[in-house]
Amino acid sequence: MTNELSWERPHLLLLGAGASKAAFLSGDAKGHELPVMANLVQVCSLSSLLHDAGLHDGHDDFESLYSDLCDKPEYGDLKQKVEGLIWSYFRRLEQPPAPTIYDLLVLSLRKKDVIATFNWDPFLVQSLVRTAHIHRGEAPRPLFLHGNVEIAYCPKCTKPTPVGRLHSVCRHCSNEFVPSTLLFPVRKKDYTTDHSIESAWADMKTGLHSAYMWTIFGYGAPKSDVDAIKLMKSAWGSKYDRNLEQLEIIDVKEEDELQATWDDFIHTHHYDTWKDIGNSRLLRHPRRGCEAFWSMSMDLRIPEERPVHPRMDWTELESVLGPLVDAEKGVLTHHRDKKPVR
Ligand SMILES: [Zn+2]
Repeated sequence: MTNELSWERPHLLLLGAGASKAAFLSGDAKGHELPVMANLVQVCSLSSLLHDAGLHDGHDDFESLYSDLCDKPEYGDLKQKVEGLIWSYFRRLEQPPAPTIYDLLVLSLRKKDVIATFNWDPFLVQSLVRTAHIHRGEAPRPLFLHGNVEIAYCPKCTKPTPVGRLHSVCRHCSNEFVPSTLLFPVRKKDYTTDHSIESAWADMKTGLHSAYMWTIFGYGAPKSDVDAIKLMKSAWGSKYDRNLEQLEIIDVKEEDELQATWDDFIHTHHYDTWKDIGNSRLLRHPRRGCEAFWSMSMDLRIPEERPVHPRMDWTELESVLGPLVDAEKGVLTHHRDKKPVR
């Protein structure tokens, strides 16, 4: 990758189920638990439905159970019921009024950046909407790699829109928006059947190819995601060609394990691991992560930190981030002088 103006390249944030779990350890605003694949059957109350069909043997391996539903046409009705229950569960999740980790993630990145998520839950979309008074349109682009309950999309141009605009008309091509498809976990996932998911992956590959920094939060690269990992690897390319880029991995696992999981993507020592999102470069240098990393690694200068954290209220977030957004808007409305935005 070229090193010219690397700080202007995207910072890509990838979210897995662990991110939502970490953001809402005590559940959502009403105490609804955040399911992960290992407890989806139990949390979304699918046990009795599956048990009655003779499919549930007491083990909660949802991927295996769901794959059985897909393999046998006689389970068509049951499959629809299971999908409906899961959709309803995720759709009802909501955030408490005070700023959450999702709000911080959205506000810590800029318009040039990307947040790609494997999660079906509505938190990313909710945060993009409810932080608009601070980001004022300078928000990162969301990509829904497995679909999302809060999203509808135009079947022709694949432009996503909040699900509240379902059945209204796309202003680009006058087609009616349809609900996002959730990609349910079969053993062999196909990222090309659904138009909106295929489009999200095309954008993901472009984003990864050009990314200067890549933060992975709560995504464990499970073996069942072998096809997703392959797509990401093809976009990232050889780790030996990524000698400027930095990976940061936020996960409760130990560093050795994380390093081994992501070894194919890490150039020598160009990675950090954090158990606590609060220590991450993302939250220590909100909206200026790429500039800060460039300063440190290329100019050998310790950049000033302007951290945000989950205990801040909306006024405190505005006071830290508002001036940064102002500076970005100034840079965007004037001729670029090829200096990092400070
Ligand atoms: Zn359209």
